[in-house]
Amino acid sequence: MELTALAGNQRLKEQLSQQQTGRGLAHAYLISGPQGSGRHTLARLLCQAMVCTAPQGDRPCGHCAPCKKVLGGIHPDVTTLAGSGEGKSITVDQIRSLRADAYVRPNEGERKVYILEGAGQMNASAQNAMLKLLEEGPAYAAFLLLAENGSGLLQTVRSRCEELSLSPLSVGECRSYLRARFPQKSEGEIERAALDCQGILGRAVEALGETDPALEARRELVGRLAQVMEMGEELDVLEAVMALEKGAKEDLPRVLDALEEELIGRLGQARQGKRLFRGVELVRRLRSAARLNVNAGQLAGWLCAGLFLEETEGGISSGDK
Ligand SMILES: [Zn+2]
Repeated sequence: MELTALAGNQRLKEQLSQQQTGRGLAHAYLISGPQGSGRHTLARLLCQAMVCTAPQGDRPCGHCAPCKKVLGGIHPDVTTLAGSGEGKSITVDQIRSLRADAYVRPNEGERKVYILEGAGQMNASAQNAMLKLLEEGPAYAAFLLLAENGSGLLQTVRSRCEELSLSPLSVGECRSYLRARFPQKSEGEIERAALDCQGILGRAVEALGETDPALEARRELVGRLAQVMEMGEELDVLEAVMALEKGAKEDLPRVLDALEEELIGRLGQARQGKRLFRGVELVRRLRSAARLNVNAGQLAGWLCAGLFLEETEGGISSGDK
């Protein structure tokens, strides 16, 4: 199993790889570890492994359409559930709707995956509803329960899940990960962060200043835009571009710069580069327009027209050959 995106945790990786090639992945995992220990990275890798279309041993490949959709947070068969509002936990009503959803067959692949945030904080009735689902749910549904520590879960729920508990990294592991991720930082800064984080990589990343929320939001937005421009439907593109409206308008040129860079990066690995190439051209044109006075709605319209109308025209002219 391809798990290099998760730093450290060698034993856990071996456990999962053996399982994948042996009896196959489980239907329910309890992923535990403190904040910043890699729970979300591991959950994402497991989701990808479950929907990936590459041969079994190479999953998750990270390159197939389902893998990319999971990465972009747009896979229709992967659902994340969290309590609404800060400090709130998932309610029994949420579990009931999850249950109803789980009985609807997957849209695209063979599996549906549900990620439950803060599973250890669910109250007894939510946990009991969850237990029923773990016991009787459809075979194609998989559940990833995330918790800081598994002791908040009822023993009955816990026994239905395979436990994956994330371990702190060694200073050496932290150091080499941080060096690769922050090439612009000095050795001294890397060393300090690696020593101070107590093996919890997320803390070191935060200390090195990567979690500027505006920066994170922009990166996420750009990733989603590039994703739908590469392989989405017109409606997906429209929806993703409309998210620009929420961001500050002054941010538009920077978003477009980053988008161009991202699309060019994807061109390098894409099998079908035609649409990406058109996307790059389009973004370049739009960027000059963004310096003038346009809103996200207009941009969305132009982007869709550029991507999809020209695609249809292209289809007509290629039929002439
Ligand atoms: Zn894949």
